[in-house]
Amino acid sequence: MTTTTPAIAAPAAGQPLAPTTIVRRDLRPDDVLIDVAFAGICHSDIHQVREEWGGSIFPMVPGHEIAGVVAAVGANVTKYQVGERVGVGCMVDSCGECEYCVAGTEQFCVKGNVPTYNGVGFDGENTYGGYSRQVVVKDAFVCRIPEGIALDVAAPLLCAGITTYSPLRQWGVGPGKKVAIVGFGGLGHLAVKLAAAMGAEVTVLSQSLKKQEDGLKLGAKDYYATSDEATFDTLRGRFDVILNTVSAKLPVDLYLGLLRVGGAMVNVGAPGEPLSYNAFSLLGGNKTLAGSMIGGIAETQEMLEFCAEHGIGAEVETISADQVNEAYERVATSDVRYRFVIDASTITA
Ligand code: NAP
Ligand code: ZN
Repeated sequence: MTTTTPAIAAPAAGQPLAPTTIVRRDLRPDDVLIDVAFAGICHSDIHQVREEWGGSIFPMVPGHEIAGVVAAVGANVTKYQVGERVGVGCMVDSCGECEYCVAGTEQFCVKGNVPTYNGVGFDGENTYGGYSRQVVVKDAFVCRIPEGIALDVAAPLLCAGITTYSPLRQWGVGPGKKVAIVGFGGLGHLAVKLAAAMGAEVTVLSQSLKKQEDGLKLGAKDYYATSDEATFDTLRGRFDVILNTVSAKLPVDLYLGLLRVGGAMVNVGAPGEPLSYNAFSLLGGNKTLAGSMIGGIAETQEMLEFCAEHGIGAEVETISADQVNEAYERVATSDVRYRFVIDASTITA
């Protein structure tokens, strides 16, 4: 039997989200039915609802930061049992056979990973995300949420957490390394907590000093305003790694100037507009300009265990379903501290 479930959907590009009802598929042998407890609001949800990346599919039920409890499992599922606390991130399927899937980097599946929403499954059906009461996901794309992380603060780890954990690991952030986190929002505040827990010396580069106290409390040693031109002189040549989490276009050359020789600036921010840089900003110092997209499923589980071990969760503001459009406005204007999560029990058709 298929399940109908209340959800929140954007009917068309840039339109306000509104309550609706969607159908979840019958459980296949390897499926897990999850009662959603909380769904985080990622800036990527806003980019896609506003069609800033192009190619959006409507109606759209966003949500790829899902935390909840297993409500039922398919006949062949042995990994999860009813009642377990689980999470789902940005992907719900991949081919499982290509070199990237085999390497645990399902996000780069050569057939294309199936996004949790705003995508089409291998069965030809559109995918609908976590802004809903229930979701059905293949067991291999479900992660276990360790005891000790509450579901509300766990939800944002499924995208914002893994998206920052993965490049920090990949670029060797740890003791003795100086790392700058650009943008102190949903991704940025988790990046600060994670990089500090990894043992690095962390600096926040934010547009203003409004959130300085929070940044220092969450583990940063320094906090500078990028609106102050002197910042770019003071910090010249300082960092081993710069993680850019900004959702808008940035003057990349200015930031490359803050790297040490051999340093790397890694972009995870995904603005609709192109970023540009001057070739000499890299040549003069053998610097690297890189990108990183979420992380694989095994690495997501590793990140959740790391967070449990270090007492890391997101700083959240819990909202009800009828506050979603207001929350989108606040995220779009950098007025979020530091992740909105929707209490899924308030979603009614
Ligand atoms: P967010 O909560 O809105 O945080 C973005 C932060 O960027 C803001 O808090 C603000 O920080 C800064 N910012 C915004 N506009 C700016 C501007 N015009 N100039 C300079 N700084 C600005 O967003 P998020 O959810 O963390 O997502 C950040 C970006 O990462 C989005 O583009 C999202 O789509 C992308 N993303 C990528 C991946 C991936 O796999 N690579 C995964 C998830 C999200 P301050 O107030 O501190 O300046
Ligand atoms: Zn996201």
